Amino acid sequence: MNIAHLLLGSSREFHDQAALARGDAVHLSYRDMWRKVSVMSTHLHVRFGLAPGDRVAFALSNCVEAIEVMYAIWHAGLCAVPMNAKLHAKEFAFILANSGAKLCFVTPDLATTIAEAAKEAPDLKEIVDVTTRPYAFMAVGDPNGMAECAPEDPAWLFYTSGTTGRPKGATLTHRNLLVMTLNYYADVDRPATGGSMVHAAPISHGSGLWNFPMLARGVVQVFPESGKYDVPETVELMNRWPDCSIFLAPTMVKRLVEHPAVGDLRPGALRLISYGGAPMYVSDLKRALEVLGNVLCQLYGQGESPMTITHLSREMHALRDHPRWEARLASAGVSDTCVEVRVVDEEGRRLPAGEVGEIIVKGDTVMSGYWNNPEATAKSLRDGWLWTGDGGAFDEDGFLTLKDRSKDMIISGGSNIYPREIEDVLNLHPAVAECSVVGRPHPEWGEEVVAFVVVRPGATLTPADLDRLCLDNIARFKRPKDYRFIEALPKNNYGKILKTELRALL
Ligand code: AMP
Repeated sequence: MNIAHLLLGSSREFHDQAALARGDAVHLSYRDMWRKVSVMSTHLHVRFGLAPGDRVAFALSNCVEAIEVMYAIWHAGLCAVPMNAKLHAKEFAFILANSGAKLCFVTPDLATTIAEAAKEAPDLKEIVDVTTRPYAFMAVGDPNGMAECAPEDPAWLFYTSGTTGRPKGATLTHRNLLVMTLNYYADVDRPATGGSMVHAAPISHGSGLWNFPMLARGVVQVFPESGKYDVPETVELMNRWPDCSIFLAPTMVKRLVEHPAVGDLRPGALRLISYGGAPMYVSDLKRALEVLGNVLCQLYGQGESPMTITHLSREMHALRDHPRWEARLASAGVSDTCVEVRVVDEEGRRLPAGEVGEIIVKGDTVMSGYWNNPEATAKSLRDGWLWTGDGGAFDEDGFLTLKDRSKDMIISGGSNIYPREIEDVLNLHPAVAECSVVGRPHPEWGEEVVAFVVVRPGATLTPADLDRLCLDNIARFKRPKDYRFIEALPKNNYGKILKTELRALL
């Protein structure tokens, strides 16, 4: 089934109810959204000459057009390539080239960057700014018939950074997205028709993935006019569009809880915060429960099994009298309904409760593979199991605690940063002999990036030199906040750099 069927169903069931809103104002009803998407689908085929299976990318700061574009893509039987608006031109270029996207939608703030990136993406034929006439023109004409799709057809290429430093496109199929949607109703919540969802986190990731369970229930999806996360604006929107569900990274929850504007939230405005993507400190979580009430549900997932591995439900958060309540708050909860989750040793043997191993997952939400990357696919998907690269342990009650991120990933402000990617850039400098990047705990951002650098004998190097190199090659938020020059990197007998020792130095 084509995932765009969800919108067809909602257009029939919810007709004139609001589907999309920009700030205070309704943008489209469900019926009008279906009509618009069906006409846009005609343009994708006829004007842009796209054929089923072709990839269409977008680099959009959060806006209503992001949802329109996605459904038009699926309606036409194409595959969406949502890109995080904060990426660097080189990262956009890699994703555009790797996915072979033929068309890319942009917001004006990203138009120049994407035009530059397009030079390295030979398949990309056209860039359409969603604020210009060529986009408006896509709503004019006759509707298309919805394309047939097989459940295993690619629908969404979810680009995550990899340990190799190159982003990898987790290929999510129509089936993956449908099962993820149904799992929301099983484990997270069944939102009430007429409620809202405010998109404050990037639409290319968790917030965008949650559009499906909202849309299928006749919820209005609201986009802040600022296009970003601003606490007073978010609170105002929740009051304007009550019974609100929202997806936030843990640091965003913290910012909400600590902001004076949280006191302006009216009763019934906030229905549910689903949070995840990074660890949340127990003290922050307790404070959030105190201030907001019992409205929190945690998710543990990854692009390769989107939003679905384990969950800590609202009910589990509320069981204060349970003897292991605190330990449970520190955990990522229990396995999701739609997947099987195990903790295993290197040979894939199941480990008993309490023992730390790698978390592996099997089920209908698990990606079909990495786009155009058979080696990475073979490493991650073995005998039908997804090897997450995350370490963890189950307790006797089946609650999973994440122990360390075995990929050494750094999570800063809810964004994932892979050290290898930064190391690759630093190594470009001729004066760098060796380097290693680790995360240092930061009270506001969760973690911040620190680079350890060994300078070649006789050479000179300053933090400013390295900063410039990073600014020229990777997104700003990935740049190290501190450079430590050292004599040599600590290594084990196999020559592997000991990041744990580097962290200890901090
Ligand atoms: P991404 O593919 O960008 O969604 O990143 C997924 C990674 O974020 C996972 O493999 C985990 O390492 C981390 N992560 C996701 N959810 C949680 C959570 N609830 N608690 C701790 N880490 C998480």
